Amino acid sequence: AVFSGLAEKLQNTFSKLKGKGKLSEADVKTALREVRLALLEADVNYKVVKEFVAKIQERAVGEEVFHSLTPGQQVIKIVNEELTTLMGGSQTGLNMSSKPPTVMMMVGLQGAGKTTTSGKLANQLRKKGRRPLLAAADVYRPAAIKQLQVLGEQLEIPVYSLGDKNSPVHIAKGAVEHAKIHGNDTVIIDTAGRLHINADLMNELRDIKETVQPHEILLVVDSMTGQDAVNVSKEFNEQLGVTGVVLTKLDGDTRGGAALSVKAVTGCPIKYAGVGEKLDALEPFHPDRMAGRILGMGDMLSLIEKAEETFDQEKAKQLEQKLRQQQFTLEDFLDQLEQMKSMGPLEDIISMLPGMGNVKQLENLQVDEKELVRTEAIIQSMTAEERRKPEIINGSRKKRIAAGSGARVQDVNKLLKQFSQSKKLMQQYAGAGQGKMAKKMAK
Ligand code: GDP
Repeated sequence: AVFSGLAEKLQNTFSKLKGKGKLSEADVKTALREVRLALLEADVNYKVVKEFVAKIQERAVGEEVFHSLTPGQQVIKIVNEELTTLMGGSQTGLNMSSKPPTVMMMVGLQGAGKTTTSGKLANQLRKKGRRPLLAAADVYRPAAIKQLQVLGEQLEIPVYSLGDKNSPVHIAKGAVEHAKIHGNDTVIIDTAGRLHINADLMNELRDIKETVQPHEILLVVDSMTGQDAVNVSKEFNEQLGVTGVVLTKLDGDTRGGAALSVKAVTGCPIKYAGVGEKLDALEPFHPDRMAGRILGMGDMLSLIEKAEETFDQEKAKQLEQKLRQQQFTLEDFLDQLEQMKSMGPLEDIISMLPGMGNVKQLENLQVDEKELVRTEAIIQSMTAEERRKPEIINGSRKKRIAAGSGARVQDVNKLLKQFSQSKKLMQQYAGAGQGKMAKKMAK
C-alpha cells in the first residue's frame, strides 16, 4: 500500500491521542516528536519536516485544542489539513490549449518511467475523448522508440517516429505538424533522458521547448529514489521550467519522502502518480485524498472513481449519492463487497477504505476472500429492514442471523461495529469533500 510505513507510524501516534479525553501539552509534544521522526524516516526533506511540525505545533496551541471536547481528533484534523497543503492543496489539472494541438513534453532521467507514463497518459486522455499522438523523441536509450511503438500498438494510439537518426528537435517539430494535419488534439513527446542531469540533456530539452512551445512540461520522477527525486525536480525546474511532476512507482515500497517534499521544495505541483506497470495505472494526484490515506481516513473518492471505471457506473453514482446524504446501509455495504471482488487486488481496495490503510490493522482484520464470503453470508441472513436499520438488531436477531449464516454471534457483532465505524468515517470524509464535489457536478 502507499506509504504503509509512514501511515502505520502516524496512525499509531494518533490512536494514542484519540483515546484521551484531555490532552496535556506534554501529550502533544510527544505526538509531534513521533510525527517528526516518522516523517524523517519516510525520507521527507528535513527542512520541510521542521516547518511542518512547527506549523502544527502553532496551530494546535492557537486553536485551543486543549479545551476542545475531542482534542485528539482536533490534532488529527490539523495534521490532515497540513499534510494536504504540503502536497499542494488541491489537485492540479493539465494545461490544455484552447487552440489544438496541446503539446506536452515528458522529461526526466532514464528509468524514471517516462516512456511508460507517456503511454499511460495518452491512454487516459483518449478515455476522456481526446485524440492523442505519441512522439518518439528518445533517440538515445536503446529500444526506447520500439518500446513506445509497442505501447502505441497495444493502446491503438498513433506513434510519430523518425527513427533514431534524426534530432529530437526535428522529431518533436515533425510530430506537431503531423498532429495538425491529422487532427490529433494532443501531442505527447517522449524525450530522451540520461543517467544524470547534464548540460547536453538540458540543452537538448531547451531546444525542443523553444521549438514546439509546449503547454505542459511534465517531469517524470521515480518516487522510490526519495530525496534524489526531489533534487532532480529542483534541478529540472530551475534549468528548464516544469509545469508539473509525475511521481512514478508509488505502488512500490516507497517511503513517501518524494511525494511529501516535491511541492514544498520546488513549488511544482504533482499532477499524476504512477501506481503500477499496467497501462491504466496512472492516477491524478489528489493531495487531500493522499493525506487521508496516510492518516487511515480512507480514500472513498478514489475508490468510487475506481469503481466507476471498473464496473457499474450507475451503482457507483448511487453509492456516492448515498454517502453524501448519509444513507449508506448494510445493503450498500453488501453490494460493495460483491462488486469489490471484481475490482482487482483486494489489498489495494482495502487500503482505500476508511480505517483500513494500516497494514497492522489489515493483519488483525484478516481481510481475505474467506472473510469477505463470511461477511456476505452474514448480511445475506439479515432481513431487508435489518440491513437498512442495523440499530434494530437485538440479541435474538443476532442469534438468528448467526445461525442463518453459519457464523458466531461475535462475528455479527464485529461486522456491525465495523460497519458503523466505516460509516462514521465515510460521512466525515464525504462531508469534507462536499464543496469540491458540488463544483465537479456543476461542470
Ligand atoms: P524511461 O527510461 O524513463 O522511459 O522509463 P520506462 O518507461 O522504460 O520505465 C522504466 C521501468 O519502470 C519499466 O520497467 C516500467 O515498467 C517501470 N515503471 C514505470 N512506471 C511505473 C509505476 O508507476 N509503477 C511500477 N511498478 N513500475 C513502473
